[in-house]
Amino acid sequence: MTAPSTRRLAGYGTTIFTEMTRLAQEHGAINLAQGFPDWDAPDFLRKAALDAVGSSHDQYGRMAGVLQLAARIAEDIGRRHGLRYDPEQEVVVGCGATELIFATVQAFCDVGDEVILFEPFYDSYRASVHMAGAIPRVVTLRYPDFTFDLGQLRRAFSPRTRLLILNNPHNPGGKVFSRAELEEIAALCAHHGVLCLSDEVYEHLVYEGQHTPMASLPGMRERTVTLSSLSKTFSATGWRIGWAAADRPLASALRLAHQYLTFSAPTPLQIAAAAALDAPPSYYDELRASYRQKRDFLAGALRSAGFEVHPPQGTYFLCAGLGAFPGHDDVSFCRWLTEQIKVAAIPPSAFYENTEHGRGYVRFVFCKRQETLQAAVDRLASLRPGPR
Ligand code: GLN
Repeated sequence: MTAPSTRRLAGYGTTIFTEMTRLAQEHGAINLAQGFPDWDAPDFLRKAALDAVGSSHDQYGRMAGVLQLAARIAEDIGRRHGLRYDPEQEVVVGCGATELIFATVQAFCDVGDEVILFEPFYDSYRASVHMAGAIPRVVTLRYPDFTFDLGQLRRAFSPRTRLLILNNPHNPGGKVFSRAELEEIAALCAHHGVLCLSDEVYEHLVYEGQHTPMASLPGMRERTVTLSSLSKTFSATGWRIGWAAADRPLASALRLAHQYLTFSAPTPLQIAAAAALDAPPSYYDELRASYRQKRDFLAGALRSAGFEVHPPQGTYFLCAGLGAFPGHDDVSFCRWLTEQIKVAAIPPSAFYENTEHGRGYVRFVFCKRQETLQAAVDRLASLRPGPR
């Protein structure tokens, strides 16, 4: 049944994450589809939350984020990247980075404005653009290396372009944009007077190359809203704590949208998040090392099962080519894999404006315990390449 939605939401169904998780549950499949860890958040974080819940933090927090968290966020960005943000004026905490994606588009895009997106994209970007009455202009990151054509990017800019949304490191591609690529994007944004929403929630999950924040490029701090969150770095996707750092006028517009969306994120969890940002450097090193091991394990197993694998430079996503499984597109393959082999993956065509570009591969996640990955790999071993 088609939901009686507005025209803005026409064409949207339940997100592919929810759909594949439901299908996985229905068929008893191991869920390598939706990106969430199957382990708990670190003890120091849960303990901080229990303390905060027990210490009279039950009412609204400061609208833009409790100050002690905003201060930690600003300190952390300053220490790692030498970028200065005023915690009172230039940091906004929201209910996950997903809220702040929506809030940023609401803050800057009028009806009819254009927004440049790189496909494949996290599906929230396009939905946020449509819900603001703005128009997506899509540039393709070409599988398997997810490079883009500079000419196509240049042509995507028009006098109506208001915002460019970048996801770096990139979901689902696992791409870490090089400095040279970021410079090309930055130069075009500056030339056309376009703002950049840089979603950097996978900033700590980088195995090859180095993460460069868009805001650290010359001239970009003033035109970039940078997003990060607790979800990936602290394995707490259910806490819904994300944040934005942006130059004062941008942050002030973003606050306007945020105050009418959720007003404030959960107070005790924000207080606990402040404690998380005190984690020592070894925490991040161990997180990265553990993810690198999982990446290599799943990459090797998928290759043995017949997939083409290009290990990701970052994130916890791994794209696997379907060349050895003719007769399938991504959607039919994911359905078959979930129902018959009992391992769920995401069909990436859901992340494309031109869905044909996403038919030849599928996305697995490796943010799962070793025993979960091993069980999935055991099931995948029964795959025999060829038509089915
Ligand atoms: N970002 C996560 C993914 O790509 C899931 C987000 C969600 O389920 N809303 O799997």
